[in-house]
Amino acid sequence: MHSPIHLYNTASKKTELFTPIHEDKVHIYSCGPTVYHFAHIGNLRAYIFADTLRRMLSYSGYEVKHIINITDVGHLTDDGDNGEDKLEKGSRREGKTAWEVALFYEEAFKKDLEALNIPISTYTFPRATDHISEQIALITSLEEKGYTYTIEDDGIYFDTEKFEGYRDLAQLDLEGLKSGARVEENKNKHSPSDFALWKFSPENEKRQMEWDSPWGRGFPGWHIECSAMSMKYLGEHFDIHTGGIDHIKVHHTNEIAQSECATGNKYVNYWMHVNFLQDKTGKMSKSSNDFLTLESLIKKGYSPQIYRYFILTAHYRKELTFTYEALDAVKVAYKKLTDHILRGSHLKGNILETYLEPFLEALRDDCNTSEAIAHMWKMIKEEQGNDADLAATLLEMNELLGLGLEKLKEEVLHLPKEVVELLDKRLISRKDKDFSESDRLRDEIRKLGYIVKDSPDGQEVVKI
Ligand SMILES: [Zn+2]
Repeated sequence: MHSPIHLYNTASKKTELFTPIHEDKVHIYSCGPTVYHFAHIGNLRAYIFADTLRRMLSYSGYEVKHIINITDVGHLTDDGDNGEDKLEKGSRREGKTAWEVALFYEEAFKKDLEALNIPISTYTFPRATDHISEQIALITSLEEKGYTYTIEDDGIYFDTEKFEGYRDLAQLDLEGLKSGARVEENKNKHSPSDFALWKFSPENEKRQMEWDSPWGRGFPGWHIECSAMSMKYLGEHFDIHTGGIDHIKVHHTNEIAQSECATGNKYVNYWMHVNFLQDKTGKMSKSSNDFLTLESLIKKGYSPQIYRYFILTAHYRKELTFTYEALDAVKVAYKKLTDHILRGSHLKGNILETYLEPFLEALRDDCNTSEAIAHMWKMIKEEQGNDADLAATLLEMNELLGLGLEKLKEEVLHLPKEVVELLDKRLISRKDKDFSESDRLRDEIRKLGYIVKDSPDGQEVVKI
């Protein structure tokens, strides 16, 4: 028996009891990055959330199959299928081919995930360019069923008027969209909400990424890749689809429309969307060249663990504002956690169920990480001095939060007992700001063959 899990479903606008399609398995698809530049830290919030959801489901006994796609082609700079191809733009900026740009930033993205304790070996990362034939097959099936039309010298479009309920789904004010000058509107579209499934290569221009298709040389529209790849790996009907709240109106509405029209069946049961990370000026974006990356935080002395912890302090459906003050507060809290691990993880402790249970319940209640973290701190406060049990329970909680505390335990376990004891004493002396004592202890530890360094995450020990 699995413990009950509740998830907020954007599709019904309600929190619902989670019932998987297959008894012990959960299939999840998370919209991935367009790999034309580094991810900014706001982009990474969505994957920290997706990984926390995966950890909770997997801890609750489900076998989780989780896909994050890599958008490495054809995604134009606005939602209205206009503008410039982001990969071609990246290619010009860096003097590399679009293929090189895509591969480079895919690797950078995976490196960021690993650093954030999102273990890439537990995920599948299909690339859009490796699934062109699947996308063509899906468009063909939509064409056969009469959902498409062609705009000469432009592309194959999905006719949203033919999908009943499209307007409700998108919460669109179509009249407003028609009169608004949000994007330079394509006058040949039957309706402003129609979207490109396949774009033709311009005749006078050689694109770096283009393929032959039944409709001529070109490249897929953005939305079709997610339908094609999710259904290939997870089945035509699967459990959970995640993304950012900016995906709801256009990208996910289009995914639902094209998938359900092609198969005639329901596409996804639960839609989960992460809110924005803001800075003081508003939503973070890459439009200015000076955007924050994980690497820039590391350079300023904040480890990826600290950033992950910061993200988890807020519920994923709430807006979160990034400030260095907030990050500093998290850094102090994180250091306290590492101190408890250093002090107690070499002892044999028991799990404190009284605290673990409400912690788990909070996570099973729509991934309420902020409440789970509050339960964790209540335990730390009430169990002061109970080093062994505290460390054991913290390590258990760490399995769900993914804060990297297990790496510290590894370190502690490989250290001689005298070194662990000296480290513990040094921790106390540093807390009391007795720096001469702390330096004396460092020398003693050195005599035993180890160097101590004080890092943002606590004391780091290296064998000489
Ligand atoms: Zn997507």
